[in-house]
Amino acid sequence: MHIHIITDLEGISGVTDISQMDFDSEGYEYARKRLMIDTNAAIRGAFNGGADTVTVTDGHARGQNFINEMLDTRAKNINLIELYKQGIHKQVDALMFVGTHAMPGTMNAFLDHVQSSISWYDYYINDVKCGELVQGGAFFGAYGAPVIFASGDEAACAEAKYFFGEIQTAPVKKALCRNKAEAYDLAYCEEQIEKNACMAISLVGKIKPYIVSEPLEIRVDFTRTDYCDNASERPGVERVNSRRVIKRIPKITDYLSILL
Ligand SMILES: [Zn+2]
Repeated sequence: MHIHIITDLEGISGVTDISQMDFDSEGYEYARKRLMIDTNAAIRGAFNGGADTVTVTDGHARGQNFINEMLDTRAKNINLIELYKQGIHKQVDALMFVGTHAMPGTMNAFLDHVQSSISWYDYYINDVKCGELVQGGAFFGAYGAPVIFASGDEAACAEAKYFFGEIQTAPVKKALCRNKAEAYDLAYCEEQIEKNACMAISLVGKIKPYIVSEPLEIRVDFTRTDYCDNASERPGVERVNSRRVIKRIPKITDYLSILL
């Protein structure tokens, strides 16, 4: 059984302030360490639950957040583009999210956004407003793999259950406002991630993959018209109004095709 894990930084345990997203900050270095602890807990859980192969994608910003020497040596770190190019997505049996966050506009969510907090206001697939959880779920879902586990703040875990059903989650904090959160006990978080990721393995074959109907219409509303000016120059992207573009794709082929 092959489990793939997509990580992000916003929903990592102990990450409680927007300033920790700043690559030059001390808080960011701490966030990276916590990222490795949460990720390794999920990897252990997956192997304990019966996984044979675990691959991991560092999904935050440019994907250079891992402290490589800290990663559980049984897991392989691979970015989504390479994973796709090598056809590994077709071998994945289920997907897990570690450190995920809610879609933009979610109440009581820590650092809610989709792709860019600055320029993307809302994102839709076939008229359904969603975020990065659904993007991953839809991509792997198109190849038959369901989402079985998510860790993040309370709002992110609730969003994962809303879209994917009764999956396992591990909430690691609660938002106090968009840019601040209250961390849960760190040892408890690590334990919950490991335990619930392990239990999630038993959902493989029971939870359905998240399937979106094809052809797809991707829609993005930007915060400002100039961001929309730039996006509408991309191939296949059609401008609808001052801030909105759509892109129609016949099939989910690669991960980038569901972005813009
Ligand atoms: Zn991120």
